[in-house]
Amino acid sequence: EGEEAQEEIRELEELIPGLADQYRLLGRIGEGTFSTVYKAIDLRHERYDNSEWTMIFDSSPPRPEHDGSGSGSGSNDGDTPRRRHGTASRRARVVAIKKIYGTSSPVRIANEISILSDLRGSRFVVPLVTAMRRRDQVVVVLPYFRNDDFRRFYLDLPVAEMRWYLASLLGALQFTHAKGIMHRDIKPSNFLYDVRRRHGVLVDFGLAEREGDQEATRIRSRHSLHMDSSTAARLFTSFDQRGRPGVPRKDTRPGLRANRAGTRGFRAPEVLLKIPRQSVAIDIWSVGVILLCLLTRRFPFFQSTDDTEALLEIAVLYGRLEMERAVAGLGRTFLTNVPTVKDRGIRFESLAKAYNAEGFPSLPPEIFDLLRRLLALSPAARISAADALSHPFVANR
Ligand code: ADP
Ligand code: MG
Repeated sequence: EGEEAQEEIRELEELIPGLADQYRLLGRIGEGTFSTVYKAIDLRHERYDNSEWTMIFDSSPPRPEHDGSGSGSGSNDGDTPRRRHGTASRRARVVAIKKIYGTSSPVRIANEISILSDLRGSRFVVPLVTAMRRRDQVVVVLPYFRNDDFRRFYLDLPVAEMRWYLASLLGALQFTHAKGIMHRDIKPSNFLYDVRRRHGVLVDFGLAEREGDQEATRIRSRHSLHMDSSTAARLFTSFDQRGRPGVPRKDTRPGLRANRAGTRGFRAPEVLLKIPRQSVAIDIWSVGVILLCLLTRRFPFFQSTDDTEALLEIAVLYGRLEMERAVAGLGRTFLTNVPTVKDRGIRFESLAKAYNAEGFPSLPPEIFDLLRRLLALSPAARISAADALSHPFVANR
């Protein structure tokens, strides 16, 4: 297994000439749909331009040759911010090197890099260090961020800690959304959270999109070989009244084209309905889904693999009447005869209780208020990242 890892590292080093001169690759840390991510030491000990990041990444004890400004040795326990005004840091930096698969469309890769470089300057968004390319191979270098696996901590994260989790995630989105950028793939594996430090960073802008660019993306996507083939899939917004439950009615209207990128279980209703003009509110819905996971101790919360079923899952939660009203507001029709969809939905309070009978002794009422605002069916009614940050549940920490 170790040999295999070594082989993989050698291959990557051969792929990008000069990589091995600058970085010592340590091993693989992540594997996504579009990339493999490796941990590495930056051998040039380069300074990053964002001093905020120093606090987070300069956690290794200073080397003997470090000419600190008179601070006694051993005084930096890793939690103390060390600012480097004027003094060059000589410590090694740990980086994450993301190798983007050659099968990704060049437009998509260029988009990710351009958005990452526009998003420098927030301590909640991973900053781009550099990017390198050789032929169709692209690697993106990011500071390494230590993080805990959501699959472990969602089972017992105390309510008080959820406030901190949301503060970082919403802080990242406030910054991103203020720049008119939608992340489009908010989910735990794209938000690296360190439970002990109560700090998280948003990563993976591979599906991100500028709000004004949606038309352009749709036109481009038709010409790209590697775009999600389901963008061309037909849309069924209604269910056969007399047919089998959940089976879409035959629909002869032309298929709708809209970006439905993202991960199943985290897609907002307007994404599932393929509403062409989407907004940053799609990310807020996904934050709501994460909070729902934390409250019910159930991850993933929504299970369905296709968009029609995903809408049904949401309908079970909200009830037929509310679902019909919200979908009508988006200019579509929602019809269903699926028996599990009742007229009225399930209260989040009862849901949390049902899934989590003994988990939380008492959940503050503000948490449910926030949940309802994050998971507002209608994007226009959904809370913004900035407003969610000042919501009592997040602000009182
Ligand atoms: P993909 O587009 O393939 O999903 P991501 O950017 O989400 O790629 O990275 C995949 C995984 O690699 C992440 O879920 C995370 O575990 C790890 N990772 C990515 N960037 C970093 C980083 N800066 N620090 C630490 N781990 C990272
Ligand atoms: Mg990812």
